[in-house]
Amino acid sequence: MPQDLSDIVAEVCRDVQNEIGTGRVADYIPALAKVDPRKFGISIVTCDGKTANAGDADELFSIQSVSKIFTLTLAAEKIGAALWERVGREPTGSAFNSIVQLEHESGIPRNPLINAGAIVVTDVLLEGNGPQQTIDSIIAFLRRRADDDTIQFDPEVARSETETGDRNASLAHFMRGFGNVKGQVADVLHVYFRQCAITMSCRQLARAGLYLAHAGSDPVTGEEVVSEARARRINAVMMTCGHYDASGDFAFHVGLPGKSGVGGGILAIAPRHASIAVWSPGLNEVGNSLVGSLALERLSALTGWSVF
Ligand code: GLN
Repeated sequence: MPQDLSDIVAEVCRDVQNEIGTGRVADYIPALAKVDPRKFGISIVTCDGKTANAGDADELFSIQSVSKIFTLTLAAEKIGAALWERVGREPTGSAFNSIVQLEHESGIPRNPLINAGAIVVTDVLLEGNGPQQTIDSIIAFLRRRADDDTIQFDPEVARSETETGDRNASLAHFMRGFGNVKGQVADVLHVYFRQCAITMSCRQLARAGLYLAHAGSDPVTGEEVVSEARARRINAVMMTCGHYDASGDFAFHVGLPGKSGVGGGILAIAPRHASIAVWSPGLNEVGNSLVGSLALERLSALTGWSVF
């Protein structure tokens, strides 16, 4: 087994080389359909300051649902345990944009990492703030966490999501009908589509997630971002719900808390070890990065970082 982190990353890249370009790029958001499916990047930042990057690690991509980890962090900080009265923490076994369970469960989404749950989380952030202020504060949080003031959202992706966002609008209206979305649907979606349209590189994303690998605090700045208990909870929700109805499969093969997005990015957390971001735009049938998942499976096997 290679010991050096860059050797491990090189081996992961070799192992997935033949698969690069497989999977289907998300096309239900037209702006995402233009992305080159042969892109592949990986970045690792360890709690003790080592980094390794390979492939297209510095190229910006649409983080999409990976943003849900950061909005969950902010909403938990804002209202604490009261958040769990508005959203559950159970996996769904359904697609990320499914509406079926919401009626039976009175407008309370199963977890904060499916679209319905993330829309409620965004609504929590919006309470007492305007839409512009809310998206600004999400971006400011990411800039601080990634130590990079250039992070932005892509207005073209945001527009594309707005134009094709009927399912998300349905979810939001439905939950508002149950009183579980309190703001105006247009405002909530304004923020939600922009948070999904944030672009980051693997290097920025891995750095931004480091507090979750380091018991809630940033090992570089020493800042406590969330308490140790809260970091543990966020990781638990990532492990059980971060890959939609393939969360069990991801836990089985990779064994790390992780969150995917339909842009092809995955943020994975190896508690006490490292934060890892991979990007490969081709998705499997559930909407998770195909090559990204394979790369994390190899990385987990080579490093022994699986939590199991
Ligand atoms: N913006 C996407 C949507 O709302 C996010 C979904 C995802 O990344 N799985 O449909």
